[in-house]
Amino acid sequence: MDSMSALADAVSAGTVNGRLWFYSNYHCNLQCSYCLTESGPLVKRREFGRDAILARAAEAQELGFTGFGMTGGEPFIRDDMPQLVAELGSELPTIVLSNGTLLNERRLRELEPLADLPVHVQISLDRPDPVENDDMRGPENFRKVMEAIPKLVERGIGVRIATTLPDPDAVDPEERERLCELHRAMGIPDEDHVVRPIVNRGRAVTNAMGVLAGFEQLEPELTLTAEGAFYSPFGPTVRGGRLDTDLLVSRTTRPLSEPATALLRLAEQMPEGDDARIGIR
Ligand code: SF4
Repeated sequence: MDSMSALADAVSAGTVNGRLWFYSNYHCNLQCSYCLTESGPLVKRREFGRDAILARAAEAQELGFTGFGMTGGEPFIRDDMPQLVAELGSELPTIVLSNGTLLNERRLRELEPLADLPVHVQISLDRPDPVENDDMRGPENFRKVMEAIPKLVERGIGVRIATTLPDPDAVDPEERERLCELHRAMGIPDEDHVVRPIVNRGRAVTNAMGVLAGFEQLEPELTLTAEGAFYSPFGPTVRGGRLDTDLLVSRTTRPLSEPATALLRLAEQMPEGDDARIGIR
């Protein structure tokens, strides 16, 4: 079986997720207390170049991947990101994860072409109250996010909300309902609101937060960085300034068939029926 049909078959069978993730960069304007990648303004950027991303994306389509994801760091800290996301979204459904705080008028204008594409911008909003929300994510985060989301929605750009909590099952139902009322009022339906636990990697380890996530808890979902390919978007995390390698699949990302084949091999070894998997989106 060639690698194209093998990958496409595994996606149809649900053995691997059809989305190919890219870590565009590791720097960020924020420094959240649970950040998987220890991101901040001054960290090593580890930028994945535009041409390399587009080349891997073209290979991905040939192999049978069915969607793209972009994450970081904060992707929109890069000036080329709106155009890059539009190029990916012109090929396959694409999701870009963002903290939503860098969407000034110029950036919003640059993002307008996304309204005609199967692209979603997934923005983090953790709590319905500014003080609690900003405690984890930094000053003014709540206000900026609450301003940015309606501006994307009114431009017709797809938006999803991601809520990350220490223990989603322990949340006060009244607080949960207030958060849902907020996103519904901004035009984001319940199916576009994801709630997931903090994962115990990166800065969450330092701050003793989150659930453990290794091969058995994570869905196989090929994730590319400038420094190699990983089993999941929760793989290429950073601890003490060093890239974690426990979920590394391959040091090379080129040709894409190499890490894709390695991922398939690993996925086939995983026990079936694990319903406790953690998804980044
Ligand atoms: S969690 Fe996201 S927004 Fe917060 S520091 Fe990390 S990359 Fe930036």
